[in-house]
Amino acid sequence: MKRRITILGATGSVGQSTIDLIARARDSYRVVALTGGHNVAQLARDAIALSAEIAVTAHEDRLDDLRARLAGTGIEAAAGEAALIEAAARPSDWVMSAIIGAAGLRPGLAALEQGAVLALANKETLVCAGALVRRVAARAGARILPVDSEHSAVFQALAGANMDAVDRIILTASGGAFRDWPVERLEHATLAEASRHPNWNMGQRITIDSASMFNKAMEVIEVQQLFDVSPERIEVLVHPESLVHALVGFRDGALMAHVGVPDMRHAIGYALHWPERRALPVERLDLARIGQMSFAAPDEGRWPALRLAREVMAAGGLRGAAFNAAKERALDGFIAGRIGFCDMARMVETVLARMEGDAALIDGEMTLDNVMATDHLARRRADEAMAQRTG
Ligand code: NDP
Repeated sequence: MKRRITILGATGSVGQSTIDLIARARDSYRVVALTGGHNVAQLARDAIALSAEIAVTAHEDRLDDLRARLAGTGIEAAAGEAALIEAAARPSDWVMSAIIGAAGLRPGLAALEQGAVLALANKETLVCAGALVRRVAARAGARILPVDSEHSAVFQALAGANMDAVDRIILTASGGAFRDWPVERLEHATLAEASRHPNWNMGQRITIDSASMFNKAMEVIEVQQLFDVSPERIEVLVHPESLVHALVGFRDGALMAHVGVPDMRHAIGYALHWPERRALPVERLDLARIGQMSFAAPDEGRWPALRLAREVMAAGGLRGAAFNAAKERALDGFIAGRIGFCDMARMVETVLARMEGDAALIDGEMTLDNVMATDHLARRRADEAMAQRTG
């Protein structure tokens, strides 16, 4: 029996690495759906190469282009958010959630509702709506497997151990593009400089989030939600070489680390073949050649995103959705050249403070409607804050 596979965000960095693994063992898989955004050329190419049942673009104005590229192939073409959700809801055994941003939430929930194994790269899903996502997964009997490299590393280092035996979880952070910059220089960091990651080859948005540490901040919230661990047990450790992806500290003092080359196909492949470990086309680490690794405590003055994430976790409610939405808009503003690099954290902090005036919403029940309402309101507040800042 072929395994039925769906890839949400197939045209992105994680999506393409997933396709690379699937394409190497095509006969083992039946590809149900591939989804993408603007890049319909890539989407159509992959849908044809993998004989997908359906290809969906998020953007309705790209549908004609997608249809034209798929003409005569028998592959369905569709567009828009409802079509993305419908594709995710088609029966599949394994769904990769690799859309970027809060846009990944609803399709991910649809995949969980149909009981698929959800390989979760889209960290926003858990940051915005962790309790809701876990509730839906439990109700449907669906399994979430982490794909974010640090979270996959924690999952692997835990090796099924009882969480009672866990003292702490340590997420490593490369420190991003600016780890060695003097803090004063960060104010003037350009888009080109922030878009170059020293170790990982990733999409532009997550690369910038790595430079600002918003990516790690999101991951701290994600790890709390995935493993149900209290915030004070989650630590961040700067590790410039990006070889140790995470460590789990047990109550007997043992530290179990996951060590490997920075290649997302490792975490994706682990989630694809779990609970087995199969051969993967990733480079073997030669520790003798590497010689040494370094570690340092993060400087929260340099990276206010980490402090903000701790505040969000401490206050709880729907603040994760507000945090993510404000961060997404701040990132849009930085990419568009409207605000500076350090303004992103200032903007998120401003939005979070203003959202405290909407306590009925952010301390409300975690339903999808409330999450979406929080997301929309935080985006509006972020746009207001940006307009004030840019005059
Ligand atoms: P990319 O930006 O490379 O790709 C994002 C994917 O989502 C693309 O297929 C894109 O389509 C699609 N997309 C963009 N906007 C929308 C939208 N509004 N609705 C539906 N689809 C959309 O992202 P990454 O692959 O880098 O990251 C994906 C997720 O995985 C993120 O949540 C990220 O944090 C997480 N992650 C990424 C890692 C990495 O190595 N890149 C590592 C760990 C986690 P198109 O390009 O066609 O417009």
